[in-house]
Amino acid sequence: MSVVEIFETMEYGPAPEAAAPGLAWIKEHEPFGLFINNQWAKPANGQYIESINPATGKQLAKVAAANSADVDVAVVAARSAFETWGKTPGHVRARYMYAIARHIQKHSRLLAVLESLDNGKPIRETRDIDIPLVARHFYYYAGWAQLMESQLPGYQPVGVIGQIIPWNFPLLMLAWKIAPALAMGNTVVLKPARYTSLTALKFAEIIQEIGLPPGVVNILTGEASQVGEALVRHPGINKIAFTGSTDVGRSIRRVTAGSGKKLSLELGGKSPFIVFDDADLDSVVEGVVDAIWFNQGQVCCASSRLLVQENIANRLVEKLRVRMEHLRIGDPLDKAVDIGAIVSPGQLKEIQRLVNQGVEEGAVMWQPSWACPTEGYFFPPTLFTNVSPAATIAQVEIFGPVLVSMTFRTPAEAVELANNTRYGLAASVWSDNINLALDVAPKLKAGSVWINCTNLFDASSGFGGYRESGFGREGGKEGLYEYIRPKWETVELPLETLHIAGDWSSSNGSGSIQDEDAESAFQELAFGSITALPAIDRTPKMFIGGKQVRPDSGYSRDIYDPQGQVIGLVGEGNRKDIRNAVEAAHAASGWATGTTHNRAQILYYIAENLSIREDEFARRIVQQTGRPYANAVAEVQVSISRLFSYAAWADKFEGVIHRPPIRGAVLAMLEAIGVMAIACPGEYPLLGFISLVAPAIAMGNTLVVVPSQQSPLSATDCYQVLETSDLPNGVVNIVTGDRDTLSQVLADHDDVDAMWYFGPAEGCKRVELASAGNMKRTWVNYGHSRNWLDPVQGEGEEFLRESTQVKNIWIPYGE
Ligand code: NDP
Repeated sequence: MSVVEIFETMEYGPAPEAAAPGLAWIKEHEPFGLFINNQWAKPANGQYIESINPATGKQLAKVAAANSADVDVAVVAARSAFETWGKTPGHVRARYMYAIARHIQKHSRLLAVLESLDNGKPIRETRDIDIPLVARHFYYYAGWAQLMESQLPGYQPVGVIGQIIPWNFPLLMLAWKIAPALAMGNTVVLKPARYTSLTALKFAEIIQEIGLPPGVVNILTGEASQVGEALVRHPGINKIAFTGSTDVGRSIRRVTAGSGKKLSLELGGKSPFIVFDDADLDSVVEGVVDAIWFNQGQVCCASSRLLVQENIANRLVEKLRVRMEHLRIGDPLDKAVDIGAIVSPGQLKEIQRLVNQGVEEGAVMWQPSWACPTEGYFFPPTLFTNVSPAATIAQVEIFGPVLVSMTFRTPAEAVELANNTRYGLAASVWSDNINLALDVAPKLKAGSVWINCTNLFDASSGFGGYRESGFGREGGKEGLYEYIRPKWETVELPLETLHIAGDWSSSNGSGSIQDEDAESAFQELAFGSITALPAIDRTPKMFIGGKQVRPDSGYSRDIYDPQGQVIGLVGEGNRKDIRNAVEAAHAASGWATGTTHNRAQILYYIAENLSIREDEFARRIVQQTGRPYANAVAEVQVSISRLFSYAAWADKFEGVIHRPPIRGAVLAMLEAIGVMAIACPGEYPLLGFISLVAPAIAMGNTLVVVPSQQSPLSATDCYQVLETSDLPNGVVNIVTGDRDTLSQVLADHDDVDAMWYFGPAEGCKRVELASAGNMKRTWVNYGHSRNWLDPVQGEGEEFLRESTQVKNIWIPYGE
C-alpha cells in the first residue's frame, strides 16, 4: 500500500475523553438542590426532574424542580443581597469576579465534560470554545466592575435581575448574563434550561468556593411553566434578560409591558451566509462547517441560509458534499468527533418534521452516505438545494444541522435575499474583494456581520439582533447599559413586604483597609519581637531582560530612612546598564502584538502576587518613608487596585471608527508606542512606580524604568512579583541609580521611542531638550506633584493616551 493510499483510507482512532470525573461529581451531589443564598435548598414541592444524556438517551441526573414559592425565596435573597452588593466598591466586585474567572479555569476540564454529557455537544467545542469564553467573560467584566465608578459615573445598578437562558450554550449563556450583571452591582436569580442545568450547578459550587456574598447569585432549576413564568411576573424583579425562542420572547414582552421592568431579548435567527464568486471556496467550505454544523446547528446565529452566486453554485455544492461525507458524528466525548447529539427527543422530532416539510415543498435534500448512531438523538448534516425563498425551510428557524441553499446573480440581489427574513441576528459575507464585502456588510439587517469568517464571539464585542431576533446587546461596553440605569432614576417597586434587613459586609472582605483588628495584627508583625534578629542581607541588582544582573559600574549606593540610617544598598546604574535595558526592551517587542486579553491576565496576576505580599510591601514603605503603617497598607492596596484598573483597561481602551464624508470608514486604531523610558517620582515608592508602569505595559509598550531615587526598594522588591507573574522577559527593565543622570542617557537614546519623567522642573527641561535628538515623545510633570492616591490624578485615560499612538486606516468601499 502506498503512502498516498494510506493517507486516503486512514481512519481516525478513538480519542475518548473520560466521563468518569463528570459522573463522579454528579453522583456526589445528587439529588441536586436549588442554590439560594449560597446554600443548597430542597425544592418547596419536593419535586425533581430528569436530566438526560442526549448521546445515550439515559438519565444523567435528577435536578430540583423549583416552583413559584422557591422563586419568592430566591428573589428575597437577591433583594437583600442587593442592599450591600449594589453599594460594594467596584474594585471589590472586580476581585470576586476575577476569582470566579480563575476558578472556572481551575475546573475547566470538569466543566467541559459535564457540558458535553448534559448537552451532547462535542468535547472539542466545550473544551476549546465554551469554557475558555466563559472565563474570558468573567475576566472582561471584572474589568468593567473596576472601571464603573470612573467610566459610568452617572449610573447605578438596575437591581435584581431575572435571567432565563437556553440549552444550546448552557454555561456560556450563564456567563453572558451573570458577568455583566454582577459587574454593574446587580444581583441575580437565574433559571437554566430544563435540559441543561448541570454546569450552572457546578458554577453555583464555584460561587460558594470563592465566597461571593450570599444572595448575589441564585440559581433555580426547573421548568418554564413553574420557574420561568414566575420570574417574569415577579414584582421583586427589576429586569428580565432572556435568550431563547422568538415565541417565548414575544410572550415575555407582553407580560412585562407596563411593569417598569427592563427587558433584553436575544431570540432566534435565520442568518444568511453569502458567497460571492471570487471567494476562496476551500475556506468557504470550512466556514460553512463552522456556520451550521458547529453545535449541531443549534446556534441562534447559525448561518442556516447559504446564498451563493449562481455561476459557482454547482462547484460549491459539490465541494460541500465531499466535505459532509467526511464529517464525523458520534460520541460527544470523542475528541475526533465533529457533530454530537441533538439536545432532546423533542428537538430531534422538530428538526425531522421541518426537513420532511422541506422535501414535501419540493426542495432537494442531500445527506451523507454514512448512518448516525442508533442510540441517543442524532441527526445527520443535511443540505437542501432547489429551495424557493418563500419555502418553510428558508424562513423558519430549524435549529439543527440543516443548511438550505439558494442562488443570486448580483450583489443587490444577494442583499435582498439575505434581508428576506423576519430575523436579523447575524450574517456572514465571503469575497476576496474587500470593497465588495464592506459595501455589502452595512446593507445587511443584522446585529453582527462577519467577513470571511463566521460564528466569532468575544466578551469585548456586543451581540444581539435586529427585528424579530430581539433587542438589547450582550457583550462589550454596550452590553453594560442593559444592567444600569441613570442615578437620578428611582424605581418604585412594591417591595416593602420583601424587604429583609441583613448585612454580610463585615464577612465579605470588602473593608480590609478599615479593619482595625487586622491592622493591629499587622502592626504586631511589623514592629514585634522579630526585629531583634539581624535581617538577612538583601542587595537588589538591576532587573534587565527578566534577569537580576549586577550593575556594570560595580558600585552600589546607600538608601536611607527618614532618620538618616542606611536601610539598604542598590546598584548604581550607568550608561551601559541603560543600553542593555533598552536592548532587552526591544527584544520583547512581541508584547505589543500579543492579545490584549493576555496582557490583562498578566496584570491581574501581578496584582494577585502583590497582594500575597501586602504586609511585606507595606513594611518596606514604612521603612523608607517613615509613614504610618496603615497609610503604607493603603498605598499597597491602591497599587493593587490600580493594577486591576489597567488590567481592566488593557482590552477596553480601544480606537473608534470615523465616518468622513466618503463612502467608507476610517478605523482609528490605537497602537503601543514602543520602547518607553520612565523616571518615577520620588514620593510613593510603590504607587508611583505601579501607576506609571501598569498603563504603559497594559497598552503593549516595553519599558526601561528608573525607580524613585531616594526610595527605590519598593520597585526592586517587585522583581520577584514580576518574575512570578508570567510577564515576558524584557517587558519591564529596572535600572536603579541617580535619576537625573540615568534620565539624561535615556532621553538621549535614539532607540527609546518615548519618555515620561516625574521629577523637578529642571529635569523636565533637560528631558525635553534631549528628546529632540530622535524626536521622541515626552510626558513630564514640569515639577508639579500629583496626589498619586487620588484615582482622578493618579490613573485613567490620560495615562493610557500617553501610552498609545493612533493609526488611521482608511477603507473606502463600494463597487
Ligand atoms: P425556549 O424559548 O422555550 O426556552 C428558552 C428558555 O426559556 C428555557 O430556559 C425555557 O425553560 C424558558 N422558557 C420557556 N417558556 C418560558 C416562559 N413562558 N416564560 C419564561 N421562561 C420560559 O426554547 P426551547 O428550548 O423550547 O427551544 C425551542 C426553539 O427555540 C428552538 O427550536 C429554537 O428554534 C429556539 N431557541 C433559540 C435559542 C437562541 O439562542 N436564540 C436558544 C434555544 C432555543 P425550559 O427549558 O424549562 O423550557
